[in-house]
Amino acid sequence: MQHKTISELSRDLAKRKISAVELAQYFLARIKLLNPKLNSFITITEEQALSQAKLADQKIARGEATLLTGIPIAHKDTFCTTGIKTTCGSKALANFISPYNATVVERLNAAGTVLLGKTNMDEFSMGSSNETSYFGPAKNPWNLLNVPGGSSGGSAAAVAARLVLAATGTDSGGSVRQPAGLCGVTGLKPTYGRVSRYGMVAFASSLDQAGIMAKTAEDVALILQAIAGLDPKDSTSADFQVPDYCKNLEQPIQGLKIGLPKEYFTAGINSGVAIAFDTALSELEKLGAKIVHINLPHTKLAIPTYHVIAPAECSSNLARFDGVRFGYRCPNPKNIEDLYIRSRSASFGDEVKRRILIGTYVLSAGYYDNFYLQAQKIRQLISADFKEAFKQVDVIITPTTPAPAFKIGEKTRDPVSMYLSDIFVVPINLAGLPAISLPCGFAEDLPVGLHIIGNYFTEEKLCNVAHCLQKNTAWHLEKPTITT
Ligand code: GLN
Repeated sequence: MQHKTISELSRDLAKRKISAVELAQYFLARIKLLNPKLNSFITITEEQALSQAKLADQKIARGEATLLTGIPIAHKDTFCTTGIKTTCGSKALANFISPYNATVVERLNAAGTVLLGKTNMDEFSMGSSNETSYFGPAKNPWNLLNVPGGSSGGSAAAVAARLVLAATGTDSGGSVRQPAGLCGVTGLKPTYGRVSRYGMVAFASSLDQAGIMAKTAEDVALILQAIAGLDPKDSTSADFQVPDYCKNLEQPIQGLKIGLPKEYFTAGINSGVAIAFDTALSELEKLGAKIVHINLPHTKLAIPTYHVIAPAECSSNLARFDGVRFGYRCPNPKNIEDLYIRSRSASFGDEVKRRILIGTYVLSAGYYDNFYLQAQKIRQLISADFKEAFKQVDVIITPTTPAPAFKIGEKTRDPVSMYLSDIFVVPINLAGLPAISLPCGFAEDLPVGLHIIGNYFTEEKLCNVAHCLQKNTAWHLEKPTITT
């Protein structure tokens, strides 16, 4: 049962082979069994799940069901949910209950999905390994000694371990695609503005975008359909028509022009990852795609640029966690300054503090022009590289990460080495483009991700290419032994 896709389970629900309540109970039992090992959930919402499932069964009985009605999902713990804690992986929000739902949550509730819980994540979405969570690291279902990736690592682990059919994530610098890649699931980061950010706790507002993880591109498309589109509550959401993401999934990719950026294939790619990538590329060629060599000359500046812009925005966004407006408040403050200092010192972990410090520095008078303004200029050059490239090709392909999942603890002492492992995913956020990661084999017995980047608002094309590859290959059907 846990290996079925959303469309398969949706058919079973429609034919009354199983009820939404039974489905919720089945997956809740899996969560109870496996979460102690995986730590992929921060909160399990059994009671709410069962009442949502009951409502779903009533909708199905009345003939009012959508394809998502009764489907068990999870939300990254950065999406605000009424009546359920939203911790953002931080002590600052360890007991926070939002008075409103994020738009993504509202839309999936309206479609009838059943929320089983909130997933573990790097604190305030800062990290690539889930190790900065106040609630302890989530584990990679393929090997419990390895990281699941981050920051949406709990969501990726939950989907890979078949604890839910799909999970939401957020992606400001790879946080949906990188954990999807490292856990062997399919993960989509839509175009900036395609999905509302309302009710997503902000990390770096010009980079943040809600995304989706599921077993297949088809399942991802089904969820995207429910959450995409203009939201009057988010002024950066795009007023741009939402296509039918499932209509053209099967369209042949004969003649598709695939760009291979020269700059992405320099030294430093793990040999197993390179082999898996080449094999996937030849499968795409067999389906009629054509390889075109392209240049993205400013690639090497992406990581330093990101690590100026993201901290700058986070230092501003996280100012609200001062123990007065939001967040943990220290006991018995002497005065207001003492309150701020002690509350904030106790609220955040090292990585969040490091980024607030860097962000405050690059925004301060005297340094603003040298760092922040420069970074914004380079951001434009990176976007212009992609604009040029998309004149020649339909999609651009890279591995999702240079290496498979690393060991828990391996990179915690060297944050820069962790930052560098985001080299393929970060430029996409700087440009605001959409991209999908899907499984394409194994290196060192751990999953490898294939990263397909599209032009603005071409999520339909990305799902189409990923779906065609999944119809003709079996990598996405591989599952960790923990699932059996
Ligand atoms: N891994 C990146 C970072 O550490 C990206 C995080 C994200 O996308 N939220 O910032």
